[in-house]
Amino acid sequence: MRKACGRIAWPRRPVFKTVPHPAPTASARRLELIREPGFGRVFTDHMVTIRYSEAMGWHDAVVGRRGPIMLDPAAAVLHYAQEIFEGLKAYRTDDGRVLLFQPQANARRFQRSAARLAMPSLPEALFVEALEQLVRADAAWIPQGDGSLYLRPFMIATEAFLGVKPSSEYLFAIIASPVGSYFKTAAEPLSVWVSEDLSRAGPGGAGAAKCGGNYAASLLAQAEAARRGCEQVVFLDAVERRWVEELGGMNVFFVFDDGSLRTPPLGGTILDGITRSAVITLARGRGLEVREAGYCLADWRDDARTGRLREAFACGTAAVVAAIGQVKTAEGDFAIGDGGEGALTAQLRAQLVDIQRGRSADSHGWTHLVA
Ligand SMILES: *Cc1c(COP(=O)(O)O)cnc(C)c1O
Repeated sequence: MRKACGRIAWPRRPVFKTVPHPAPTASARRLELIREPGFGRVFTDHMVTIRYSEAMGWHDAVVGRRGPIMLDPAAAVLHYAQEIFEGLKAYRTDDGRVLLFQPQANARRFQRSAARLAMPSLPEALFVEALEQLVRADAAWIPQGDGSLYLRPFMIATEAFLGVKPSSEYLFAIIASPVGSYFKTAAEPLSVWVSEDLSRAGPGGAGAAKCGGNYAASLLAQAEAARRGCEQVVFLDAVERRWVEELGGMNVFFVFDDGSLRTPPLGGTILDGITRSAVITLARGRGLEVREAGYCLADWRDDARTGRLREAFACGTAAVVAAIGQVKTAEGDFAIGDGGEGALTAQLRAQLVDIQRGRSADSHGWTHLVA
């Protein structure tokens, strides 16, 4: 017989304990730090931590002082890289509200990443509540104007055991970092290096999961890109080594002279970007055709030369939408259009940024009010 009390059984949602920082950063110092924070070097006073064990499920949810994490040197994450993460931003609107952009989408992707890395699923509501708790605790750290508060949820395997198996214990945490606009001056198009020998992900691998291991595997190619004078690396598929997949941490779009767009399809080797998905929706909303279809390097080069390809851009949470101006490859370099930022690229970025910052109507219900 079901009882009438309506209490929810397992899994219960842990109640957050708040332990405010005993000596938070003085406001003059904080304002100085968030004036020109750059990306990912300045951190707020607090962090969220939630523990998981097979016996207790998710427990010990705390919003507390940000500080070092104690780990046993045998913790599984340190040896077998069982780790996943997310990235999203909190924005302060011109009228003082605080908005997140589609945090539920990050929660669901975090669950998919967890499943691929044999990690426990963090309930969507708990993920979103943890974000809200941290953003409220550190709301004073959200820069005004073009800046935002970058939020970094992550999960690591903490069991002290050197055997190879999924860990039985995990730590979920969120840290926050005030960041400036990626586009300080006029939007400067990216130059990209196409990595034809080093791959990021292969069929059946973890390319669709947002895990640190994918980034570790991309760093050598990223370093080669930097050596060649490029900001970003473009990866090709690992089987035929000719289909463009994505950048190290951003998805890619191509804009053609007939007004249509194309972006590589999600096939398990590229990351299902939330910005990518929003760009597809916005472009279709403008009446443009968007194809999720393969595009090979040879066509990219030919279409850039003939002018059939008008624009190319990368997109992701950190940079939002960034034009690609120059493409460098082992067989030679080519420019997209006149190497400057394309008109549609600029329009899509402005449209998306205005929704994220609460400056224009959010007809898709993408923004999430925190305060
Ligand atoms: C996070 C990420 C992206 C972009 O995803 P967004 O949800 O738009 O931020 C693209 N590629 C990779 C490899 C990523 O890790």
